[in-house]
Amino acid sequence: MKNDSIISCGCLHPDHEEAIKYFDDGKVYSVQIESNLACSQGCLYCYASSSDAFLKELPNIIEVLDSAANMGVRAIDWLGGDPLMRKDWYELMKYASDIGLTNNIWTSGMPLENYDVAKKAVEVSQGGFISVHLDSLDEEIYGKLHTGDPERKINSILKGLDNIRALGKDNIINCITFTKLVAGEDINKTIKYFFEDLGIRTCLTQMCKAGLAQGHPEWIPGIEEIKGACNTRDKVNYHGSALSMSSMDTNKFYCGGMICVTVDGDVTPCSVIRKGFGNIHISSLEKIVERYRDDLLFTHIRDPGKMQGHCGYCEHNSVCWGCRATAYYECGDMLAPDPKCWMNYNKKTWI
Ligand code: SF4
Ligand code: SF4
Repeated sequence: MKNDSIISCGCLHPDHEEAIKYFDDGKVYSVQIESNLACSQGCLYCYASSSDAFLKELPNIIEVLDSAANMGVRAIDWLGGDPLMRKDWYELMKYASDIGLTNNIWTSGMPLENYDVAKKAVEVSQGGFISVHLDSLDEEIYGKLHTGDPERKINSILKGLDNIRALGKDNIINCITFTKLVAGEDINKTIKYFFEDLGIRTCLTQMCKAGLAQGHPEWIPGIEEIKGACNTRDKVNYHGSALSMSSMDTNKFYCGGMICVTVDGDVTPCSVIRKGFGNIHISSLEKIVERYRDDLLFTHIRDPGKMQGHCGYCEHNSVCWGCRATAYYECGDMLAPDPKCWMNYNKKTWI
């Protein structure tokens, strides 16, 4: 079972056994840091956008990194916006790596078009992953979901990918925000292209009603569309696995071993969930984690017997607990069964 690909690769972290150990011990394995909001991609569903996005940056990141290292955290997941658009990104990641933290970079992919940036990103993410974000290879579809010139932007991300691959980076992910516009053939094509042609797995994030996405409720996919896309991801990326992580974009070992510090300093269980438990401008990260560990790491549902509804006896609950962000936005309860999981037979009773 340990070698099942949805266990070994679905948590994204290269050392999945260590990540699972942290999960079992109720410890924080990775801290997502939303370092800035600037981003060139212009996703029209962005949950972290704001009118002053190009100016907004998280101060005191060094303190967050020191706190993470003190807590025994293993990895920093750099988020934005696009974290590579922050002027001091390289120095911050270098500092993190010097104090023993592994850097994972969640970028749009566009800054990697610059070879020097790509080279530095590969250098500081050694032992970790780089995730780019390309929703669709179809210019017409891409153009509806993003600002600017679709051809230019798609090519820029693909060029960035070429650069990091040429530099020897082999731990790469493509993140797709799943919207109705890419449902069906388009997402199947993108998932297959990335895995079969480039050897890159897809992180399929469900669109939630947060940030700019609140202005596009019509883009939220239906349950059959989610089922189709997730089944393709499982079949293509985790071929031969007996397990599924349903509508989650990662397995629960990533999701339940991670906390996020937003650009405003709020500490949340996930970057998509914009509800803070404490703020680093008021209290240290260590103190916040000590106080809110259960809420931040979803410890209440670690025991499958304590999961509500079908999840409690589901054949996939060893790796899955449903997307907590979807549960939060759709049901107002982070611990509720994920109403977008097609395997939750009785879902009508808890929506
Ligand atoms: S029922 Fe629950 S545990 Fe099973 S696949 Fe769905 S969300 Fe995951
Ligand atoms: S709450 Fe949802 S979006 Fe956040 S890490 Fe978990 S599965 Fe992913």
